[in-house]
Amino acid sequence: MRIMTIANQKGGVGKTTTAVNLATALAAIGEHVLLVDLDPQGNASTGLGIDRRIDVPSISDVLVDDVAIISAAIPTSIPRLSVARSTLDLLGLEMQLAKFNNRATRLKEALLASRNENGEYPWTHVLIDCPPSLNLLTINALACADSVLVPLQCEFFALEGLSQLLSTVEQVKSSINPALQIHGIVLTMYDSRNSLSAQVMEDVRSTMGSLVYETVIPRNVRVSEAPSYGKPAILYDFKCSGSQAYVRLASEILQRERVLKSAA
Ligand code: ADP
Ligand code: MG
Repeated sequence: MRIMTIANQKGGVGKTTTAVNLATALAAIGEHVLLVDLDPQGNASTGLGIDRRIDVPSISDVLVDDVAIISAAIPTSIPRLSVARSTLDLLGLEMQLAKFNNRATRLKEALLASRNENGEYPWTHVLIDCPPSLNLLTINALACADSVLVPLQCEFFALEGLSQLLSTVEQVKSSINPALQIHGIVLTMYDSRNSLSAQVMEDVRSTMGSLVYETVIPRNVRVSEAPSYGKPAILYDFKCSGSQAYVRLASEILQRERVLKSAA
């Protein structure tokens, strides 16, 4: 089981869109995928067509009340893709988690406990969609992950805040999760009609080098429409430029995954 956390403390940079579409692309090629929605807003859950009122344990029941994560995994309309939904309860979670000594590794322990008696996990890939902050939820997501993927929106202040995120990753690495690797940075919402996008791409590539994926996700209206239909873009309109970019990103990620795995 490989665990990838999708994090950036800025809101609206494409974390959820990336999480939902990558999870779908991985499931489509035969992987067994769990998407953990750690954002109280629950956009990943609703973007996959999960009704917020559904009577199934949420990820906050898992983190606070020791509910088994497998019983919180809700099957989606996409074969092999389940989602552990969030609820607004996650907003007050910080305080509830504070009482646990293992407050930063609650999610990790929940995932480890999902092994069956033969030591097999129910999923080959777990993707974690983070809230737009560097709070205890994001720390839990980093503490359990093999790698972290950072979406950066092609806008003027793209790099702002990145150093703070990278230093949080370093802190988690030096304390609770030495194996944590940065998988890569994906540029999102690239607008070819806007020269600023090209400028930002150039800046980010020259600052971050090979950490930046070749694949760039274009700004595409079909991608922004998809969540209102409860569908990932790559199901809503497979042929649109945004969907095609996410399919390419998935294959680039799997390629890089092999390199990271052999380095780990
Ligand atoms: P985050 O999870 O980082 O807050 P989202 O993935 O929710 O970001 O994206 C923010 C908004 O931008 C959403 O309304 C989403 O539909 C839209 N969006 C994301 N990626 C694209 C894209 N490639 N093209 C057009 N709109 C996008
Ligand atoms: Mg989001």
